[in-house]
Amino acid sequence: MYRAYYRPKSVAEALALLQEGGGRARVLAGGTDLMLQLKKGELSCDAVVDISGVKDLRYIREEGGRLYIGALSTHTDLAESALLEKEAPLLAAAARSVGSLQIRNVGTVGGNVVNAQPAADTAVPLMALKAVATIVSPAGVRQVFLDDLYRPEGGVKLDPTCELLTEFSFVSPRAAGAGAAFGRVARRRALALPVFNTAVLLVPGAGRAFLTEARIVMGPVARLPLRARQGERVLLEQGAGEEIFLQAAAAASLEAAPRDSVFRGSARYRKKLARVIVYRTLLQAWENACSRVD
Ligand SMILES: Cc1cc2nc3c(=O)[nH]c(=O)nc-3n(C[C@H](O)[C@H](O)[C@H](O)COP(=O)(O)OP(=O)(O)OC[C@H]3O[C@@H](n4cnc5c(N)ncnc54)[C@H](O)[C@@H]3O)c2cc1C
Repeated sequence: MYRAYYRPKSVAEALALLQEGGGRARVLAGGTDLMLQLKKGELSCDAVVDISGVKDLRYIREEGGRLYIGALSTHTDLAESALLEKEAPLLAAAARSVGSLQIRNVGTVGGNVVNAQPAADTAVPLMALKAVATIVSPAGVRQVFLDDLYRPEGGVKLDPTCELLTEFSFVSPRAAGAGAAFGRVARRRALALPVFNTAVLLVPGAGRAFLTEARIVMGPVARLPLRARQGERVLLEQGAGEEIFLQAAAAASLEAAPRDSVFRGSARYRKKLARVIVYRTLLQAWENACSRVD
C-alpha cells in the first residue's frame, strides 16, 4: 500500500517529512477515511506521515470570546468538552453524531474537514460558525474561512502532501449573543452518515427585532457543505419568527440539490426533508438565542 511510515512529534518535523516525500507522502491523522481510501485504491502514496503523536495540535480552548480547536482533536474530545457544551453546543452535538464510539475516538475534526465530504458532520457547524482554518506549509502560515476553503467542484484548497491544517477558530456564539443549532437525520442512530444535516447561526439585533447575521449550512446536498443564501436572505430581510422560518426553510430547500441515492433516499424526499429540518433547526437556534439572559 505504502512503503514508509513516519510518526513525527512536532509540526516542523511533520512538514519536513512531507517535503522529503516530494508530493508522494501524505498526512494521516485518525486514518478513518485515509486507510479505507488507500485500501480501496482511491488514493495512493509512498509514505504516510502519521501526525497523531503531535500533541500540540490537540486542544480546545477559549480566549477573549473566541474558541480555538486543534485539528487533531477527536470527535470524542469535542463531544465531551464542557467548554464547547457551554459556548458552542451545536459543535459538540455534531461530533456526538459521528459514526460509532471507535470512530469518534480516533477520527479528528481536521480530517473530517480535509476529507471534504459534503456530509461531514463537524464541517457543517464549523462553516455556520464562520470558522477560520489555520494552514501551515514550508511557505508559511495562512488563515482561510471555511467558506473559502472548499472548491465549488468538491475538495478543499489544501494539499495534504505538503500542508497541515493545524487549527480552527471562531467567535463563541454564546459570547456574541447568538443562537445556533445543529440538525441531522440518518437512517439509524449509529454508524450512519447523515441523509441530511444542517447548522444555523442567528445573531439578533437590538431588542431581537431583526437579525444582524443569519447563516444556514446544509449537507450533503451539493459537492460541498452548502450555504443556503436565499434562505439567509429571507431571514436578514424579515427577521425572526415561525412564519419567517417556514419561508426561509422553503427557500433553503429550493437551493438544496441532493442526488437520488439508494442509501440516502430520493432527491425529492431529501429536498422535503431539508425544508422540515432547516425549519426545526431555525426554531431551536432562535430558542437558544432567546433563552440567553441579557
Ligand atoms: C464506519 C465509519 C463511520 C463514519 N461516520 C461518519 C459520520 O457519521 N459523520 C462524518 O462526518 N464522518 C464519518 N466518517 C468519516 C470519518 O470518520 C471522519 O471524516 C473523520 O473525522 C476523519 O478524520 P481522520 O482523522 O480519521 O482523517 P484521516 O483519515 O486521517 O484523513 C482524512 C484526509 O484528511 C487529510 N488530513 C487529515 N488531517 C489533516 C491535517 N491536520 N492537515 C492536512 N491534512 C489532513 C488526510 O491526508 C486525508 O486526506 C465515518 C467513517 C467510518 C469509517
